[in-house]
Amino acid sequence: MKSYRKELWFNAPTRVAFINITQQVNDCLRESGIKEGMVLVNAMHITASVFINDDESGLHNDYKEWLEKLAPHEPVRQYRHNDTGEDNGDAHLKRQIMGREVVVAVTGGKLDFGPWEQIFYGEFDGRRRKRVLVKIIGE
Ligand code: ZN
Repeated sequence: MKSYRKELWFNAPTRVAFINITQQVNDCLRESGIKEGMVLVNAMHITASVFINDDESGLHNDYKEWLEKLAPHEPVRQYRHNDTGEDNGDAHLKRQIMGREVVVAVTGGKLDFGPWEQIFYGEFDGRRRKRVLVKIIGE
């Protein structure tokens, strides 16, 4: 069995951002030489997500508005987590909803997606460098 590991770095210019990382995961897959197996992609920070959905700007706007209704950033004092002096209590909650990781089957050297599926990095406390782990195993 072959194994491949890579960290992808991001520095989103805004507090909340969705970044399509499908091409970068594809590049990892090509570099790994693995044809049959699984790829795991996970955020390495507890205020960021990796998720799969459509690359459609209206949907991404809907996510932002929906998440802001569920866990508004302001007022930051509403979160017990922020009693520690942080201001990212909302980002921890948004990350939990959008998930930590995705797993995609690798078939014939390609990501075996359903229709319209793309992989996104979801940032909820940006403006700093953060990482995503790509782990691929197979033959
Ligand atoms: Zn925090």
